[in-house]
Amino acid sequence: MKSALLDSPIGYLKGVGPAKAELLQKELEVFSFEDLLYQYPFRHVDRTTFHRVADLTPDSGDVQLRGILRKLETVGAGPKKRLVAKLRDDSGVIELVWFKGATWLVNSLEIGKEYVVFGRVSSYGSGLNIAHPEMEEFDPEKSKTAPTLLPVYSSTEKLNSKGLDVRARRRLMVELLQKIQPSDLPENLPDELLAKLRLPSRYAAIRGIHFPLSQQELDAARKRLKFEELFLLQLRLLQLKHGRHASVKGNVFDQVGEYFNRYYREKMPFELTEAQKRVIKEIRRDLGLGIQMNRLLQGDVGSGKTMVALLCMLIALDNGFQACLMAPTEILAQQHFQSITAYLDGMGIEVGYLTGSVKGNPRKAVLERLASGDLHIVIGTHALLEDPVEFHRLGLAITDEQHRFGVAQRARLWNKSKPFPPHVLVMTATPIPRTLAMTLYGDLDISVIDELPPGRKPITTTHRTEAHRLRVFGFMKEQIALGRQIYVVYPLIEESEKLDLKNLEEGYEAISRAFPKPEYQISILHGRMKSADKDYEMGRFVRGETQIMVATTVIEVGVNVPNASVMVIENTERFGLSQLHQLRGRVGRGADQSYCILMSDYKLGKESRLRIETMCRTNDGFEIAEADLRLRGPGDLEGTQQSGILNLKIADLARDGRILQFARQIAQQILDEDPQLQHPSNARLKAFLDSQKHALRGWSRIS
Ligand code: ADP
Ligand code: MG
Repeated sequence: MKSALLDSPIGYLKGVGPAKAELLQKELEVFSFEDLLYQYPFRHVDRTTFHRVADLTPDSGDVQLRGILRKLETVGAGPKKRLVAKLRDDSGVIELVWFKGATWLVNSLEIGKEYVVFGRVSSYGSGLNIAHPEMEEFDPEKSKTAPTLLPVYSSTEKLNSKGLDVRARRRLMVELLQKIQPSDLPENLPDELLAKLRLPSRYAAIRGIHFPLSQQELDAARKRLKFEELFLLQLRLLQLKHGRHASVKGNVFDQVGEYFNRYYREKMPFELTEAQKRVIKEIRRDLGLGIQMNRLLQGDVGSGKTMVALLCMLIALDNGFQACLMAPTEILAQQHFQSITAYLDGMGIEVGYLTGSVKGNPRKAVLERLASGDLHIVIGTHALLEDPVEFHRLGLAITDEQHRFGVAQRARLWNKSKPFPPHVLVMTATPIPRTLAMTLYGDLDISVIDELPPGRKPITTTHRTEAHRLRVFGFMKEQIALGRQIYVVYPLIEESEKLDLKNLEEGYEAISRAFPKPEYQISILHGRMKSADKDYEMGRFVRGETQIMVATTVIEVGVNVPNASVMVIENTERFGLSQLHQLRGRVGRGADQSYCILMSDYKLGKESRLRIETMCRTNDGFEIAEADLRLRGPGDLEGTQQSGILNLKIADLARDGRILQFARQIAQQILDEDPQLQHPSNARLKAFLDSQKHALRGWSRIS
């Protein structure tokens, strides 16, 4: 039962008039008391300790100062207009600066008064300053009685300038907390669990996260709320998984027959790695159970996911079913089509290809052959999900590179297979960190290929700047003389597409001058080109007719040219870590020593430097994924943006891995003992899950 008080519109709170209510809605999506309550502070200020101005350095970070306001003036004009102040304490003077909201501040600050200032130190010219600090008049009386730890809420320019700055936000929270009784925040975790884990009640934790009386209270509140958030999420995911296992029947693939055996014994060009064997065993077990499989296959770039996919498709064929393999891009679909038809040569297996660009009669033919069952396997893009595509008997759908389906897509796919939905295998392009996998894919079974095929030499990665350009060209020439091929990759992001294209073209020209015809042949590839031209250029490179491929990140996923052994990445600072790793994975696929050269400006931001260092230090995709998560946070990782599941209020997947693992373990234990949550001690959990049934719809996927 939800408390009526918490449901009250935010405008009913004392101190929130219509204008502020609208602002809170627009800026923070706060509509009710409850929404405001769940705006947790992202840090607290210890108001008992003050820094001395003389001790500050560019690395001091967030500091609290106490001093007299000495000077206050508006400088510049137009968009450059800013308010500059000086604060003096008994050790020195520091500059404070505001770029926006200055007019309003000028009227509220007073020279000669003593202020408590809170903000982040940054270096400015040869000195230090603090931009947009919080200012509060120093009040000796208040500072004696006030709590020591004050919450700091994330804010926006608008809120700050319209009377909802951090102090006003605190006042609102005090107001709200005064109204809230324990009955408004009923406990949602079992008492036994709280006792066992020594966690405070929900009521105590929510009060404690806003206005803790001590660091210990704050820590306990945080721990409780993080645990609750992750635990309830895992409980939902695991229940979804259990529920599906119990209710969604699947086609039984109980035989391994002619296709699989013949291919495995006679045609497979290499021996599987132990990891590949293990994963295939896991999948085979799933396929025989009569329950629809939903499995995530994780493996580093080059770990051989394609062969695993192929062998699984053969099992489907052996049981009289068709299989499809879907890729996110046309180029990748083509590559899959080429490599799979080559692998299957002489097996008497019919493989079709379907993407948006297959039109007219060829399209008609593919559709007919799929419907009649003449085609055993089809490889393509999302076009495979469209309505006219009908299968004779689809048994297995494999999606490459982090495809997650929405509800509509899922329904479409399921309709293509009767009477049961197809088994589903999702393959990720690059590894994702454990914590993220557990959350994003927490309702799937997970298989991991944690071993690369034998004989791979680790790729040597180096960092170079423009000053090394000639040497880099020289190195490229040496490699070409050895018969190798080279990629040169430029960033292309949508906002600056034109500029990027210009970069690419200039780069292409520079390389053309340094590597003249006819000795050297160069391919160019970017997203703006016509499909046929792309094919042509890619084809020339694949056949070894060109030695250098100048391209944008269109080559990022999946492309496989084993003779390419050098990857030069331009403007490295503009790429994310997992993208860099993915790009590097395009080389090192043959027997030769391979190289990755990361070109960048001499001057780099801290994050770019860390990314580049990480790339130079390790080739391990899982390690890189972890570093990426730490650097950028889960919200920014590729493929996760749309996922509402990462809207965590307080837990942080980069830091709270241990809590997450623990929470999942406990959720699993509870569901193992009491799958339907019928035991009275689990009544709260059952009530929670029942209340969430509808919420799950928005976050859907093939699973
Ligand atoms: P990814 O996991 O990145 O999709 P691929 O499936 O493209 O990797 O495989 C990368 C390369 O490794 C391919 O050239 C493939 O033929 C080769 N390969 C895969 N498995 C093995 C193996 N067990 N032994 C040797 N080479 C393998
Ligand atoms: Mg692949």
